[in-house]
Amino acid sequence: MKRLAILLMILAIGADSLAQGTDCGTKPGPFPLLIQKDKQDSLNSILALNTPYCLRVFITVFANDDGTNRAATDADVLRQFQNMVDQYQAHNICFMLLNIKQVNSTDLNSHDADNEPTELNPYKVSGCMNIFIHDVLYDNNGGLNGIAYAIPNTFLSLVRSAVSSTTNLTTMGHELGHCLGLYHTFETYYGTENVTRSAANGCYNCTSAGDLVCDTPADDPTNPNSNVNAACAYVGGRNDPCGTSYSPQTNNIMTYGNRACRTIFTANQGVRMRTIILITPILSAIFADDIAYAPIIPNASYSWNSGDSQQTGRDQLIISNYSNNSYIVNGTANQFIQSKKVTLKPGTHFAPAAGGKVHIKVNPFCN
Ligand SMILES: [Zn+2]
Repeated sequence: MKRLAILLMILAIGADSLAQGTDCGTKPGPFPLLIQKDKQDSLNSILALNTPYCLRVFITVFANDDGTNRAATDADVLRQFQNMVDQYQAHNICFMLLNIKQVNSTDLNSHDADNEPTELNPYKVSGCMNIFIHDVLYDNNGGLNGIAYAIPNTFLSLVRSAVSSTTNLTTMGHELGHCLGLYHTFETYYGTENVTRSAANGCYNCTSAGDLVCDTPADDPTNPNSNVNAACAYVGGRNDPCGTSYSPQTNNIMTYGNRACRTIFTANQGVRMRTIILITPILSAIFADDIAYAPIIPNASYSWNSGDSQQTGRDQLIISNYSNNSYIVNGTANQFIQSKKVTLKPGTHFAPAAGGKVHIKVNPFCN
C-alpha cells in the first residue's frame, strides 16, 4: 500500500520536483504564535533573553530491516549538525549532540509524515530535540526535504538528500527554526505581509501577518521555490497587495528560494526563538541547565536498567552530590552524559551489562 502511495505521489508531482527534494512540510497552526510585548519586556528586564541556551539533540538515522540503505552517514550528519551550530551561534543558542543512533526499520525509512507521525513515538528520547533521518520522506502533497510537524515542537524529520547535500546546508537549521517558533518568511496563513515597515502606513502589518517578525522583509509567497536565481537575487518581480515591490531577504534560512543562498537568521528571529523557548514548557524541558545536579535533592535515588536516557549540564554536571544519593545505570540501559565538566561522587554506580553503555562526553558544540 505504501509503495503504491509513493508511486502515485511520484507520478502526481513529477520527477523534476522530487529530484529537488521539494518542500518543507511544516504547516502553521490554527492560531498565530504571538508574543505579547509586555511578556517580552518582562523577560528582557531579567536578562532571561540573553541567557545562552544549550539544546539537547538526539539523532536517529533509519535503515532498512536488514541494516542496508542507511539514510545518512555519520560524517554527513555531523557536517550538517556543525552547519546548524554555526547558524545558531550568533543567536545565543547552542547544541549538545547526545547520540547518532541507527534504527533498522524499512517502514520508517520510507516515512509518510502526514499519516504516520505517531510511528516515531517509540524512538523519541525524552528531554531531547529528536531529529529523524529517512531515506524517503513525503506527505499528502508529495516529497519533502524536511518537516517539523508543528510550530513549536520537539521533533523533526529530514530526508536523505537534505543531509547528504553539499549545497543545501540549512534544512536541519530551517526545520529546527520551526520547532523553536519560526514561520516561513513567505507565510500567508495569518495574512499576507506587506513590504512597508512604517507603522504610520495603512498597509503596515508585519507584527500580525506573514512570519510575525518585522526585521525579515516581506517575502513573495507566489512560487516561493523559484523566485531566487543562482546569484541569490530575487527575480519574482511581483508586488505586495499594496502595490509595493517585494525585496525579500534571499539568504534567510526560513525562506525557500535558492537553498544554496540561505545562511542567516535575523536578530529578531533569534529573539523570537529565545522567547518561545522560555514561554513554551515542552521546549524549556529540552535545554540543559548551566549547572545541573542529579539527583537534585538529598536522599534521592535515580536508576535505569533499560532504554536510552540522558543527563546533562551546560557548564557542569554533578552526579550524586548530596548525602545518601544513589545513581545507578545497569542492565541494557544506554545513558548519555554530557557537560563541559562532569563530576561523579560517591553513590554513583555504573554497571552496564551486554547491550548497555554509559557514554560520558565533553560537549564540543557550546562555547
Ligand atoms: Zn519550512
